[in-house]
Amino acid sequence: MYRRNGDHGEKGSSPQTTEETMLTHNLSPAEVTRYSQQIALPQWGREAQEKVKSSRVLLVGAGGLGSAVAFNLLSTGVGALRLVDGSRVSLADLNTTFLYRERDLGKVKSSVAERRLKEINPFVSVEGHGKTVTENNVHRLVSGCQLIIDVAPEPQVSDYLNLAAVRHRLPLIHARVGEMDGLLTTFWAGQGPCLACFLPGAPLNGKPALMGPLPGIMGALLSLEALRILGGLGPALTGRLLAFKGRWFHFKEEQLKADPSCPVCGRLQEQN
Ligand SMILES: [Zn+2]
Repeated sequence: MYRRNGDHGEKGSSPQTTEETMLTHNLSPAEVTRYSQQIALPQWGREAQEKVKSSRVLLVGAGGLGSAVAFNLLSTGVGALRLVDGSRVSLADLNTTFLYRERDLGKVKSSVAERRLKEINPFVSVEGHGKTVTENNVHRLVSGCQLIIDVAPEPQVSDYLNLAAVRHRLPLIHARVGEMDGLLTTFWAGQGPCLACFLPGAPLNGKPALMGPLPGIMGALLSLEALRILGGLGPALTGRLLAFKGRWFHFKEEQLKADPSCPVCGRLQEQN
């Protein structure tokens, strides 16, 4: 099971203390009906659904991938989502996401997304943060979360998120899309590699060419992995890099190993 990050919180560091204390696992009758198809799964049931409801997720990036993930997580009952993205909706964004409209052009993505996502499911909490993740704010943003999802386009942001994930021993799901391809894996220090063990192989950053459906495809797979972790089924992709090749509809897989000399998680490996 994942560790509740609230146990590690820095004093006075939480940006949304009130909302953090309000999360509950109790499902109302309307929620039981809303999630009845998931609850009917023998490997899921009400217990997993309640775990998901009591979970808070930090999602960094509200472009095509991020908005697909946000939609899926809120539709499926994740209790709270902290969505961070300081960029604004552009015309090119409308090619890869269904969350934004022409009337949203020029507006901050996280604000638009917060408003729209709240309409999807009134039983969940959404916080939009129109800012960039930095070395200074990353621990405040992670505070109270049980899972970090990194779909930010900036490699520096991924480094900050990885540092925070290792420090708080939180799972970090990492996905990238470019052209007709997608990559997806879960980093979880203590159980497998972290992003810094893997960095030399992260090839898709910075490719502007992108086929529109790719963020939705990879965002759905990412969301399933997130639900597995939050619901207690455990991650499927720790130490496994899943690569989707849209040109041939191939899934390829690569094993990822923790690097014992990793400057970020190496010391943690020695302790285990
Ligand atoms: Zn590492």
